[in-house]
Amino acid sequence: MKKYFLPFMMLAVFETIAVTLWLTKDNVFYLFNFSYIGISISFGIFLYIKKYKYARRAAQLLVGLYMLVYLGFICGENMQIEGFWYYLFTGVFEAATIHYAVAKIFGPLLFGRGWCGYACWTAMVLDFLPYRVPVAPRKQIGWIRYITFAGSLIFVSALFFAHAGSIEKIMFWAFIIGNVIYYAVGIILALAFQDNRAFCKYICPITVFLKPVSYFSLLRIQCDKSKCVSCGKCKKVCPMDVDVTDNSRKRKNGTECILCFECVKNCPKGAL
Ligand code: SF4
Ligand code: SF4
Ligand code: SF4
Repeated sequence: MKKYFLPFMMLAVFETIAVTLWLTKDNVFYLFNFSYIGISISFGIFLYIKKYKYARRAAQLLVGLYMLVYLGFICGENMQIEGFWYYLFTGVFEAATIHYAVAKIFGPLLFGRGWCGYACWTAMVLDFLPYRVPVAPRKQIGWIRYITFAGSLIFVSALFFAHAGSIEKIMFWAFIIGNVIYYAVGIILALAFQDNRAFCKYICPITVFLKPVSYFSLLRIQCDKSKCVSCGKCKKVCPMDVDVTDNSRKRKNGTECILCFECVKNCPKGAL
């Protein structure tokens, strides 16, 4: 039973969030929402334990499609970073602010960048592209993320300062257009750099939250040095260029780990 601890733990965490929000916000939607997400992620980890090849992708599609299609398109919630700023400025702890608090600001203290590996609807599409393992070394252009981060903040601030009418409608269209831009840029960059996760590495504004918090993540891949034979296979298969053989928190690209377990699956010595 020990090997099922992780899916049980994730389910317990999400159920705690679901019940707490349901009772404190007096809204049964939160019970449904976080239970669904918790079950989907736990199911993905369970499939991984059962050695199903597409376990992570299954969780990614279950959560990503739910958030993009149901919450975004059908319910009209802007769950992107602009939606987060919007709810933050209106002082409401609802929808995108709760989503960011759980998945991207406090959650990464526990599960690092699990969001990026198992739930993000942008990466859900990018991971279908052919370059799962980057062909070339990482480029030093990660600073672009701060520009996109500032751009999203300036965009929503300008709407408030200008007292724009029907901001909710603008937010809905910002979600649609924002996603189209993300997908277009993500696909172009992936093909140009031969790296599916180029958008995540250089452009995504959410990493401004994710990276510093995930530095302290409780859940992380560790290397058993006594088993490791320094074959380098783990680094070769890592989509995020993480030096996973270094157990220190300062390991190279450590805050980029999306917990995809590709390194674990491919280690010939079971050292990870
Ligand atoms: S870095 Fe951004 S685009 Fe990539 S998976 Fe994470 S949240 Fe999604
Ligand atoms: S794949 Fe395993 S044995 Fe090879 S370097 Fe990585 S941890 Fe060590
Ligand atoms: S291959 Fe390993 S180190 Fe690289 S992102 Fe996936 S889990 Fe993290």
